[in-house]
Amino acid sequence: MRTAEIKRRFLNHFETNGHTVVPSAPLPAIADPNLLFINAGMVQFVPFFLGQRTPPYARATSVQKCIRTPDIDEVGKTSRHGTFFQMNGNFSFGDYFKEGAIKLAWELSTKPVEAGGFGLDPEKIWATVYLDDDEAIDIWKRTGLPAERIVRRGKKDNFWSMGIPGPAGPCSELYYDRGDAYGKSGGPEVDEDRYLEYWNLVFMQHEITNVKSKEVFDIVGDLPNKNIDTGMGLERIASLLQGVDNLYEIDEVKPILAKAAELTGKRYGQAVSHVAAESHPDDVRLRVIADHVRTALMVISDGVIPSNEGRGYVLRRILRRAIRSMRLLGWQEGPALPLLLPIARDCMAPSYPEVAEEYDRISQYAYGEEERFLQTLNAGTTILDLAVTETKATGGKLLAGDKAFQLHDTYGFPIDLTLEIAAEQGLAVDEDGFRRLMAEQRANAKADAKARKTGHADLSVYRAALEDGGPVEFTGYRETVRESR
Ligand code: ATP
Ligand code: MG
Ligand code: MG
Ligand code: MG
Repeated sequence: MRTAEIKRRFLNHFETNGHTVVPSAPLPAIADPNLLFINAGMVQFVPFFLGQRTPPYARATSVQKCIRTPDIDEVGKTSRHGTFFQMNGNFSFGDYFKEGAIKLAWELSTKPVEAGGFGLDPEKIWATVYLDDDEAIDIWKRTGLPAERIVRRGKKDNFWSMGIPGPAGPCSELYYDRGDAYGKSGGPEVDEDRYLEYWNLVFMQHEITNVKSKEVFDIVGDLPNKNIDTGMGLERIASLLQGVDNLYEIDEVKPILAKAAELTGKRYGQAVSHVAAESHPDDVRLRVIADHVRTALMVISDGVIPSNEGRGYVLRRILRRAIRSMRLLGWQEGPALPLLLPIARDCMAPSYPEVAEEYDRISQYAYGEEERFLQTLNAGTTILDLAVTETKATGGKLLAGDKAFQLHDTYGFPIDLTLEIAAEQGLAVDEDGFRRLMAEQRANAKADAKARKTGHADLSVYRAALEDGGPVEFTGYRETVRESR
């Protein structure tokens, strides 16, 4: 079943059950200062859940475009993490609650394909519930799940909150057992690749206070209006229904991966998902390329452009990681995006026609970024290679901080890139030394700026530091990543 058809069936199921279909919000989370990108279907409904606004409907459904940069290191290594993905969701604002949410999810999951459902085998579905949520356990049992496929889990996995005082509640996640070929038996606690989480049902029933962390808080009581928020990973259910190993092999992603394999002459498919990382790095790289190229397309389509901070920096990193991965697979022929991005466009246009309609604009930013990055790489790689060779020749394990600084300062090499390339060569980088030199440079620039006010500055000194090609603050990427979750 094609991804576009799965999406249609999902919305149809909930529309028939009285839900209003609401379009996806754009990826940049403009309304939320703590979030760079929308990372769940519920984000656009937060004011309703918080009681700040009255929803114009009691039930809603959507397919929300999401970005989760904190998952970036998982991409290609697990079977189930994309930086971009689509979250199917159904929402109840003080209307149906636990029983309704479980029933609706079970129905769509198990209804035969001929009857408009997903036709999952009910014998292979598992559910997790929050520790003391006996009510959910009862409902699951009545719905048809035997006790041995219902697992109790703690706050970390099965209690949802926004990390601030307000609505919160237990959740129940649905998993699908993909069988012995995918790993060890014993349930989701044992193997999350074999047992694929595909749907999370959040039962927003409590109000919490004294919030110390996502796991430490007091429950004040029950909300007058109990809400439902669910999220089903569209790509994950697609990987199940298309019978493929992982979400990089579904119809919306695989053609990009196949093109990257063709261009680099690599044979993809040596690995099953859960052994990919250790033994088949090329497979992981091809998956990363496919994921990142698609992500970049969707992010630029929603108005973000590459830059050195915030959303633009996340985009820049994602584009560069895709480009570097192509190089690591042996691609030497110049720009790769003009060959890969059109494939991503063709994959996504059936669901998002705007990526085709605005392709000129989108591709201009992507291709421009690649050109600049290739120049940076060409300029810095020789210097870096030399430094790596010298360090190794003297038996060192640490690339000098002044080398990293020189690369940043003169060649626009972002520190992340230096770290990445050094790590590939088995070297660490003297980050403290690098940071010290950066701080010195900043102090000098400040002094210059002061002098400039009095008319005695040499502007050229720090203009170089502001040149494009590297983050102004080298901690930017990692902080950005944390922020967006
Ligand atoms: P996991 O434990 O697998 O990382 P999660 O518990 O973090 O998933 P939720 O926050 O519950 O995920 O999100 C709801 C649903 O969205 C998940 O059940 C899954 O189907 C999907 N999903 C979450 N993260 C991703 C991702 N990075 N790529 C694709 N789908 C995702
Ligand atoms: Mg996760
Ligand atoms: Mg989970
Ligand atoms: Mg979950």
